[in-house]
Amino acid sequence: MPQWLFPRTALSLTVVALASATGLLLVSPSVTCLALGLLSLAQLAAMRSAWRVACLIAAATLGLLTPGMMSYLLPEAWVATTTWQSLAARILPGATIETLRAPLLATVSLQLTALALILRSRARLGAPLLIIAATLLIGLQAIEPALHPDFIPLLHYATVWPALLVHAVLLLAHVVYALPYWRGKQYLTTALWLPLGLVIVSLLLWQQSHLQAERTLHQRAEARVQSVMTQLNRELTDHLDAMRRFTRSWALQTAPPDYRQWAHQAEGYQRDFDYLINIAFITPDSGIRQVYPATPDNLSLLGLRLFDVQPAGRRALEPALRDNREGSTDIIELLQGERGMIHYLPVMNAQQTHIGATAIALSFPLLADTLFKPLPKAEGLIQWHANGQILAQHGDATRPGPWTYHHRIALGDKRLTLSDQPRRDHLLSQLPRLPTISLVLGLAFAYLVYLVIYTLKQLGHHHRAMQHSNQSLQQEIRTRSELQREVEWLARHDELTGVANRRYFLDHVSEHQDKRPLSLALFDIDHFKRVNDQLGHLVGDDYLKRTAWLGEKLIGQHGGIFARYGGEEFVAWLPGLDVEAAQRVADTLRLQLADAHLPHADGNPITLSAGVVSVNDPQPVDMTRMMQTADEALYYAKRAGRNRVVPGRLGG
Ligand code: GH3
Ligand code: MG
Ligand code: MG
Repeated sequence: MPQWLFPRTALSLTVVALASATGLLLVSPSVTCLALGLLSLAQLAAMRSAWRVACLIAAATLGLLTPGMMSYLLPEAWVATTTWQSLAARILPGATIETLRAPLLATVSLQLTALALILRSRARLGAPLLIIAATLLIGLQAIEPALHPDFIPLLHYATVWPALLVHAVLLLAHVVYALPYWRGKQYLTTALWLPLGLVIVSLLLWQQSHLQAERTLHQRAEARVQSVMTQLNRELTDHLDAMRRFTRSWALQTAPPDYRQWAHQAEGYQRDFDYLINIAFITPDSGIRQVYPATPDNLSLLGLRLFDVQPAGRRALEPALRDNREGSTDIIELLQGERGMIHYLPVMNAQQTHIGATAIALSFPLLADTLFKPLPKAEGLIQWHANGQILAQHGDATRPGPWTYHHRIALGDKRLTLSDQPRRDHLLSQLPRLPTISLVLGLAFAYLVYLVIYTLKQLGHHHRAMQHSNQSLQQEIRTRSELQREVEWLARHDELTGVANRRYFLDHVSEHQDKRPLSLALFDIDHFKRVNDQLGHLVGDDYLKRTAWLGEKLIGQHGGIFARYGGEEFVAWLPGLDVEAAQRVADTLRLQLADAHLPHADGNPITLSAGVVSVNDPQPVDMTRMMQTADEALYYAKRAGRNRVVPGRLGG
């Protein structure tokens, strides 16, 4: 993909994300969609290089998501679920915390995206890890429901798939935009592996622990209905046992009980089991003979024949009256006008003959009251059903949670159902925050590790780059100083012969003219033109080099300096030598040259002539005069036939 296509593709993807988020927001407004819309907008601003605007919008999105995140994280003891709910209702009338916060995983992934946008340093500050973590969270949301097909969780973890899709597009845009900056930065990827492992481990641990926490809560919530069940069973067996004892007590008697006896006996039982609305004595012909307590309702029943007034109970009553068996009705409309059931227990006298039955009418509303009273209403709605009808209920039905527990109970030969639906708020207040806290801490830790590794790797990279540039800098310095030395050498020496040049000679002379005597010799090779003409310039050059070499060596030995003055002329500065000594030195050079096997075309060796001049008086040296005099002496040497040294005399 060509370089310019990256920003364009990223821009198009962001526009698509923004349009989709806006569409979703209009169709079904939610915090997730609002956050997605804002983040798309921030990304768009970032791509237009409006960094400050992008940062502001992304920070606002973080702010929007933070209260929700806090509600997932903060322990119940710090901020109670009810406080969150009343806060939500205050912000938006009728709203709950569930409507004002995004699902947990969506919140985390949106926050990571917002952070990546705020850091927005592309390759820097670890945005790649945030993007990858957000992407993993989107993936987790997509598969989250499939991970627990048999269980409806209490918390909302994943958002709806269109929102997931929009978020994925947004992240893709981010990656496409940042890709050119990430490319070629090896240390960026090497720093990723360990933190990425930590992110994955955090997610896996969270996946296990949050489900475990929810399942444990589910079981704990079920304990409520189970305790009611136990209590109910105890009540039923206790009251039936009590009634059996009550009924057996008449067996010592020959005559049916009179009211005083009946009331005296029944009073204690009715006090213990206050949901027994009456305890009656039924004669063998189903007539109500005695009834306790003597309420107007109960008293009005006296004398009625149950077979006539309550045919529904006949099937239960007959065995008690005729077969010495206990019986109980279905759940029926009691004569007192409420729903309940009647147990019938056969009553025998001392002669073991049936004298009637005890009828115990049990009111369901009162029994339910006894059972449900200790249960706080805010915890949820508990209901007692039979044949699809609600017999009794207790508690608050608003904002029910996702879990309903059904328990069947046998009441005599009847089956009842007890159902409990805990309220969401109550469950939320019980849900441990630890899995969410560990998820957030795990991600934060992974990010910190990333920053550390990234910084170290980047430092290493920069260090290596610096070392490299240091080396090339040092190399450059070496090259330059060599060049400098060469330039300086060239400025002071003759390129062909390697001896000092005229400029260096003059500089040197101006600094070393205090010694007396002091001599100057000027040399000129004889008929040098011929060498060039007859033997060629290369040979000429070679002869010049050899002459210079000889001169430099000899003059150096005498503590002087030898220089090429120009062409085939050389000059020597001889401090401490008088004219005779200088003449001898010049002559030595002449002889050495003659012996140097540097022949002319005719075989004769090349020769030189020299003019020598000396000063002995302490006056400052007049260089021009000295040169002129030496030149004149040289001229005389030439005139006199060459190959000789002629002393010059400095005129007064
Ligand atoms: P004389 O004995 O009178 O000095 O005769 P000469 O031929 O030496 O005469 P002159 O001094 O006029 O000529 C000098 C010649 O030296 C002229 C020039 O071609 C030659 N020459 C000067 N510099 C160089 C050089 O660097 N290399 C070579 N090969 N020849 C040079
Ligand atoms: Mg000459
Ligand atoms: Mg010459």
